[in-house]
Amino acid sequence: MPTPIIIANWKMSLGVSASVKLALSVSHKVIGVKNKEVVLCPSFTSLGRVGEAIAKTSIKLGAQNVFWQEIGAYTGEEAPGTLRELGCQYVIVGHSERRQNIYETDEMVHNKIRVCLQNKLVPIVCVGETYVERQGGYSNDAVFYQLIKALSGLTLSGSRQLIIAYEPVWAIGSGHAEDPIEVGKAFRLIHRTLHDLWPERIIKKHIRIIYGGSVDARNTRRFTQLEFFSGFLVGTSSLKAEEFAGIIKAI
Ligand code: PEP
Repeated sequence: MPTPIIIANWKMSLGVSASVKLALSVSHKVIGVKNKEVVLCPSFTSLGRVGEAIAKTSIKLGAQNVFWQEIGAYTGEEAPGTLRELGCQYVIVGHSERRQNIYETDEMVHNKIRVCLQNKLVPIVCVGETYVERQGGYSNDAVFYQLIKALSGLTLSGSRQLIIAYEPVWAIGSGHAEDPIEVGKAFRLIHRTLHDLWPERIIKKHIRIIYGGSVDARNTRRFTQLEFFSGFLVGTSSLKAEEFAGIIKAI
């Protein structure tokens, strides 16, 4: 397995002080943890203070979004360079909550991934089927097309890294994680689809595949033996330091 990565997506759940407090608490609990990457993704307004709080630890900083242009008249958006300046190394792109609530399209997702790669930010690209797509038997098609539209035409070379987070939309925040057997099938589909875009040596060197959707400290181990498994994107369970540390230690 490549170095596993465990990413906390705090969404819009915490203010600045609460984010700093949680960051400090997580950093105390993971002292001594080795060979794992831990990333905290607070909201934009908390990035600076959380970055300062974890500066002397091995924990890394990520953002929950980015704009696809580098500079200009884009009111309310955040530039990749500014995220870098704040110490971000990762950016969540195409989360289903943004696809649903903000109507983020596959084209926008593609452009955001491109700008991340051009600015030395690692995009965490979220893909996954909705409940309706699953009920209709279209899960594979949904994931396949999201990947193709997001990733076609991108160059992976040098130190560029990409993370694909498979997140069945209906599992997010539901308390019901997907069956690991089904996650294994989705991982294989993702890997096959990546093969349509890049040779194996590029995939191995530059891409990790992770799972997200109601992961907690108790169900973690059900996923860790899966082929292609490289970590988790965690929402709800990342808001409690003890729970999040439990996930990290279980890998
Ligand atoms: C997420 O929002 O990316 C997520 C995985 O949330 P949760 O862990 O709450 O399902």
